[in-house]
Amino acid sequence: MTTLKVGIPRALIYYHYYPMWRTFFERLGAEVVTSPATTGRVVRAGSSCVVSQTCLSMKVYCGHVMSLVGQCDCIFVPAIRSVERNVYNCSNFLGLPDLVKAVVPDCPLILDVDIDVNRNKRALYESIYRLGRRFTWNPFAIKDAAEAAWRAHQDYQMLMSGESLSIPQAIDRLFGDGGADTDARQGTEDLTVAVIGHPYMIHDDYASQRLVFRLRGLGARVVTAEMVPAADLDEGVRKLAGRPYWTYEDELVGAAGHYLHSEVDGIVGIVPFGCGPDSVMVDVVQRYVKRNRTKPIMILTIDEHTGEAGLVTRLEAYLDMVRRRRRGCA
Ligand code: SF4
Repeated sequence: MTTLKVGIPRALIYYHYYPMWRTFFERLGAEVVTSPATTGRVVRAGSSCVVSQTCLSMKVYCGHVMSLVGQCDCIFVPAIRSVERNVYNCSNFLGLPDLVKAVVPDCPLILDVDIDVNRNKRALYESIYRLGRRFTWNPFAIKDAAEAAWRAHQDYQMLMSGESLSIPQAIDRLFGDGGADTDARQGTEDLTVAVIGHPYMIHDDYASQRLVFRLRGLGARVVTAEMVPAADLDEGVRKLAGRPYWTYEDELVGAAGHYLHSEVDGIVGIVPFGCGPDSVMVDVVQRYVKRNRTKPIMILTIDEHTGEAGLVTRLEAYLDMVRRRRRGCA
């Protein structure tokens, strides 16, 4: 019997759930093929198949799906509507499988699953079971794969919040292919900077223009939302916005709410051009900072045309200001 190859695009919620998905499919006997790291060609390919107003992250995602065409038998594209009661995802996540089928030329079979915790648990289990049935008729094997996947997800989260590993480092620890971000200057930093935003922006070296690497190179230790326990992120959201409006907004608002009252020296936010939810939530964060005069914050909006030189200049100027402020000169 030939092994089914399942493609997983290295974009969007890959960064949240890759260990869980990979464990699930491998336990069911599939081979997982992950798309390579984002490049200019990937972004150009993705941009060419969607309208120009689409957010940068979706363009990157479509580019990754296109890079998997011909490399696998099917591509896993979940529709994640909600992972928290009464809090919904941005509409792009809701219609992701349909969008991919509609815009990607020669699109192979799409494996989708509907995740919505607002429906009853039975509906969620049925969705997972339907997905597993593509690989086996044995319900116990599907249950076993789902349980192993959930354990892998918990281990992944523990590596990040317990050991302060970044997402690439945690994936690298689990599977040896996360492209762990190391840097010669680690341990010599004189500042701590929190980088807030979605992991699919922060940890995608091409989309973020190597933001984390550059900050470290400029002498800053970088901390991110995944290093903060979930309860503290929830508290951060409550402080700034009152209640969560979109799933995954804790990565921006919750992290800001937490780090604005912590020991970090400054905060850098990174948002993709064209993101509706982030444009609203960045405003919430900036108004809070203005009112409370807490920490210096800089928001970077990135699109596929953002130049490296301009970004580096802004980072250098920002860190200079943070250092002067720390010395009491500003
Ligand atoms: S949350 Fe923003 S960046 Fe993410 S998919 Fe939706 S619009 Fe795009």
